[in-house]
Amino acid sequence: MGSKIYKIDVRRTKELKLPELLVLADRGDREHFYCVPNPEKVRVSCPHCGDTSVRIQGILHRNYLDAILREDESAIITVSLEFNKYRCTAPDCGCVFQPQFSFAAPYMRTTRRVADAIIKMVDVGMPYSEIAEELKKRISRQAVGQIYHRRVKELEDDTSEEAAWFRELMRKKFRG
Ligand SMILES: [Zn+2]
Repeated sequence: MGSKIYKIDVRRTKELKLPELLVLADRGDREHFYCVPNPEKVRVSCPHCGDTSVRIQGILHRNYLDAILREDESAIITVSLEFNKYRCTAPDCGCVFQPQFSFAAPYMRTTRRVADAIIKMVDVGMPYSEIAEELKKRISRQAVGQIYHRRVKELEDDTSEEAAWFRELMRKKFRG
């Protein structure tokens, strides 16, 4: 990975509970976590040819809306992630790519666990506007609806153990 040396905030990294990310010390606060990928959890390999010989091609930043559990209550936070863009150095490839993270879908600016929380709130009958309030109005009512539909679509195709709660939810819904 990169040659930069980062000082990690162990306490907030534990609080975040996203194994792919490390929270940087001396930056941000209780509501704003500056993060870098955890090199032990984020695999860097070319999505085109699978090669792991890569060169750093630039640095990218992305902000995500996230929620963590703090003293038994959910706290809305911002995750600011800094990560590398890479170029594959395999002969005849040269593909430029970004690492893939599982905590958020590639096109989304909300973490999957927030999207899952939205699905659960919709399931108990909360209107989108109330969910937006619950998320401290960090996203609009319309955005709540978009996130809901995208995540449902994603989960419908997900056969993994992590999506078991969703299949159970759908079974209950259609049982009557
Ligand atoms: Zn490649």
